[in-house]
Amino acid sequence: MHQPSFRFKKLVLFAALAFCGVRRGYFRFWDPNLTVTFFDVGQGDAALVQFPLGRTMLVDGGGGWTKSDLGTRILFPELTRLGILTLDTLLMSHPDNDHARGFLGIIDNLRVKELWLHQAWNVSPKRPLLEEIQTKYSQKKGKILWLDRTLSQTISGVNLKVIPLKGDLKSKNDQALILELSFAHCRILFTGDIERESERELSAGSVGKVHLLKIPHHGSYTSSTWKLLKNISPDWAVVSVGRYNTYGHPRKEILSRYRALGIPVFRTDFHGAIRFTVTPKGEVKCESYLGDCGVSRCR
Ligand SMILES: [Zn+2]
Repeated sequence: MHQPSFRFKKLVLFAALAFCGVRRGYFRFWDPNLTVTFFDVGQGDAALVQFPLGRTMLVDGGGGWTKSDLGTRILFPELTRLGILTLDTLLMSHPDNDHARGFLGIIDNLRVKELWLHQAWNVSPKRPLLEEIQTKYSQKKGKILWLDRTLSQTISGVNLKVIPLKGDLKSKNDQALILELSFAHCRILFTGDIERESERELSAGSVGKVHLLKIPHHGSYTSSTWKLLKNISPDWAVVSVGRYNTYGHPRKEILSRYRALGIPVFRTDFHGAIRFTVTPKGEVKCESYLGDCGVSRCR
């Protein structure tokens, strides 16, 4: 009987490995693009940043105000589906339940190389949820980095910057960490739950044009001021909210503000998970659970 040649066997083996690699998401280690995915975590925030060539960062971990283990129930399966069993960075904007309770399940189920926390929360006494997360993470012998207001570093061509605001902001929401990512002329702004006071300071600074905005504080009427929106003039905006949430987020008057300025808004309660892919040439592609949601170019 005719035996397959050694070369043919090698080809079959290579094809099988490549197929498994693509299925497991290993192709991301060759992917030159920056990808940001806003997960549908109900009333809360969780966004995955996939840097070019594979490094990963989860900005907030959802969680809501119930004891439901959302990190295990939603984020763990979503991340493993993308082939992510190790997170390089887990970053918390602020230790509210709807942004951080999911960290507990994430830390339980995945390897997390570094936990990034905002220096503003390194105070005594610590918030109980933050204590719980730190204790759990320490048991795994992970590395905690307290970010001060001057962080600026580059990962695979993407510049990360913590936007510095003064330390005496009154509301705890206003003390949320604001993170800016810049890549290929595109600027992406994560705003946690900041409100008017932080927005006023942000507008007074030199933030300038932003291409993709994570809408502050789930579209609450205390955020998304005219001044900020006119100042940063985003091409795209995403609001992370739970369907029929009791807060009435996003507020109608806030949505009409975005509409009046011609800024398209995508919402996780309607569009499901929303993914933005930015190429090294500054082309942006938006995809959601409902299908393609447009293309653009950063200028
Ligand atoms: Zn929130």
